[in-house]
Amino acid sequence: MTTLHESTSFDAIIGGGSVSGLFAAREMASKGMKVLVLEEDHEIGTPEHCGGVVSQKGLEALGIIPRIKTFDNEIRQAIIKTKNNSIEVNAVNQKVIVIDRRSFDKEIAFQAQSHGAEINTNSLIVGIAYEDNWFKVKIKGGTIYKSKYFVDARGVGTLVNKGLRNIIPSGQYEVYAPWIEKDTIEVIFDAERYPGFFAWIIPTGEGKGKIGVAGKSINPNFLLESFLKTRGRPYSIIRKIYAPIWIAGYVRPFYNGKNVRVGDAAGQTKPTTAGGIYTGGMGGIYAGRAIALSLSEGEETSYLSHYEQKWLSKFGKEFDRLLFLRRILERLDNKSFDKIFSEISTKTLDVISDTADFDFHSFSLRQFLDTRTTLNLLSAIMGNEYRKIIKDLSKI
Ligand SMILES: Cc1cc2nc3c(=O)[nH]c(=O)nc-3n(C[C@H](O)[C@H](O)[C@H](O)COP(=O)(O)OP(=O)(O)OC[C@H]3O[C@@H](n4cnc5c(N)ncnc54)[C@H](O)[C@@H]3O)c2cc1C
Repeated sequence: MTTLHESTSFDAIIGGGSVSGLFAAREMASKGMKVLVLEEDHEIGTPEHCGGVVSQKGLEALGIIPRIKTFDNEIRQAIIKTKNNSIEVNAVNQKVIVIDRRSFDKEIAFQAQSHGAEINTNSLIVGIAYEDNWFKVKIKGGTIYKSKYFVDARGVGTLVNKGLRNIIPSGQYEVYAPWIEKDTIEVIFDAERYPGFFAWIIPTGEGKGKIGVAGKSINPNFLLESFLKTRGRPYSIIRKIYAPIWIAGYVRPFYNGKNVRVGDAAGQTKPTTAGGIYTGGMGGIYAGRAIALSLSEGEETSYLSHYEQKWLSKFGKEFDRLLFLRRILERLDNKSFDKIFSEISTKTLDVISDTADFDFHSFSLRQFLDTRTTLNLLSAIMGNEYRKIIKDLSKI
């Protein structure tokens, strides 16, 4: 049976109760808007499908001070490996931390609720219709809620439903293993095993961490099992997740009428690492503010272009650079990775450590590629395409 909740019409309904949707809800509710978040899962933050690596600066911009339960670990260095080489980059001028998304998402939910947002779990959206200036959002079980705006924060699935296919499979195991070092992230490039991406170890504490793999057309389960075998026993796997990641950059327009996409649903994840807590979270914040402003100015006024412009002026150029760098990454084989890594001088590594910005890392990546031998190597592999990428990069 279908029930229409006429008495409970909302200024905005947010589909998806994860970072971007909850930040949008918090912003709108804090401006006095009546908002409802509909989340399909039974619990906010669960199942967690995230490494949880984020900069302290990013969290501050998002307006969250992690509680003790949310803060898992602080990262002091990254070891980046190729088949036969490895380099170390230190977090000198920035604080990079690992958060527990199960707790983090609840923290945002609590902020949103404190401002008056309503959040419903176990509410799978099965239909959205727009009639007579109202969205009618139907959830499994038949209940229909009405709203003036719909914020689509349903993650990568929204892009897939739009027919976009630039996703790659990933898998991540939570592991207890004595060989996991507390303050070191490991990133492993192996073009044969993880084409177009990499494997990672994110420590969440001494002897605990998340081990992940992603890559084009890979079987994450098989690769994770063989990764663990190479590291050797003892280890215990306490949780396994598999999730697609989006690596093709932002997908414009971010809105169509009063239907607004935020976070992964708008492709707001970094094309190099697929990180989206900060960039997608800011998407939710900018969208929430723009909707609240539009509502307060009256039905016919739209400030949604502000949302898109703000996000693009903050992240647009960086994402464009990262997309160019991704094109290079996808062309490298293991020999080239080894060669590039062997060319990096201690001086360059010091510069990278000093200047590295976790949230805007295109500058650091360009430093890696900026040696004469590497330039020659990439020209040899990619020919005119490489020259074009470098030319286009210098224009951004
Ligand atoms: C393995 C892995 C590791 C990652 N590691 C990091 C990292 O270390 N740092 C970082 O910054 N980012 C990381 N990311 C990316 C980050 O997790 C995402 O960018 C971020 O969670 C996006 O948030 P979102 O709110 O846009 O979407 P999502 O987190 O995908 O949330 C979408 C929500 O919508 C709900 N939903 C979907 N369909 C419906 C429906 N029909 N009805 C109701 N609800 C629905 C889902 O249940 C979900 O809660 C990682 C991603 C993966 C897969």
